[in-house]
Amino acid sequence: MSFLPRHDVSKNSLGEGYWFLFYKDKLVTTAADCGPEVPRQDGQKPNPAQEALKALTNRILYIGTLNGTGCYAGSLCAETGLPDGYTLAALRPLYGSLSGELMQTARFAVHLLHWDRNTRFCGVCGKPTEDKKDERAKICPSCKTLFFPRIAPAVIVAILDGKKILLAHNRKFINSVYSLIAGFIEIGETAEQCIEREIMEEVGIAVKNIRYFGSQPWPFPDSLMLGFTAEYAGGEVRADGEELLDAGWFCPPNMPELPSGDSIARRIITWYENEYVKAP
Ligand SMILES: [Zn+2]
Repeated sequence: MSFLPRHDVSKNSLGEGYWFLFYKDKLVTTAADCGPEVPRQDGQKPNPAQEALKALTNRILYIGTLNGTGCYAGSLCAETGLPDGYTLAALRPLYGSLSGELMQTARFAVHLLHWDRNTRFCGVCGKPTEDKKDERAKICPSCKTLFFPRIAPAVIVAILDGKKILLAHNRKFINSVYSLIAGFIEIGETAEQCIEREIMEEVGIAVKNIRYFGSQPWPFPDSLMLGFTAEYAGGEVRADGEELLDAGWFCPPNMPELPSGDSIARRIITWYENEYVKAP
């Protein structure tokens, strides 16, 4: 069992179960002995601190169940004024310290809240939208246009040449972290075409034998990362100087600083280090 998404607009108010409350992409957590926890109402009534949290929350969506326990997503109206014992923590660094199931549900919650905030008005006629009762969507009461939650697919790819891997330093990365090449899929593009284009644009080389690796929801704010591997097929590596400040071939034991946490980038690089490089 794990998180099971459910849609029931009659339950869009905080009740018994887990409360995934966000201010933008920051999650409300409480400190427990074993690390940060998601607030949880046990029993019919919230405790006084939970009542105070409730008062700060201005939009609540029932999102489903986690191992049978109800889950709610909510948006805080302010970043300050949290009751004692509760803090706001950026979601990304919580990878690893929050349990996998809670993190999965938190990713769902923050992505859904982002969509909810961005579809308050009809993009066709400008009228306020309403929650659709029978499915996760908004409907415009005036022109009847439907708005479904959106996922923006992106690719992330390990380029391999013999035992070497291509890693790049993006201008947005902290410190001197090097990671894989990534980019959003354009309209009308296949994932494979996107990989070939992004790699040519960003590092100026051609690739072949593109293979699917795995995927990860990436709600920052609304992506699904599709991980791949590809083989180098020609050209000279040069960073584009805009997105990427540097790019080059690496091989253990001489690896650069790598992304931390439970990201698909890290999973692919770990596979490369532990399995690919060691294979005969
Ligand atoms: Zn409309």
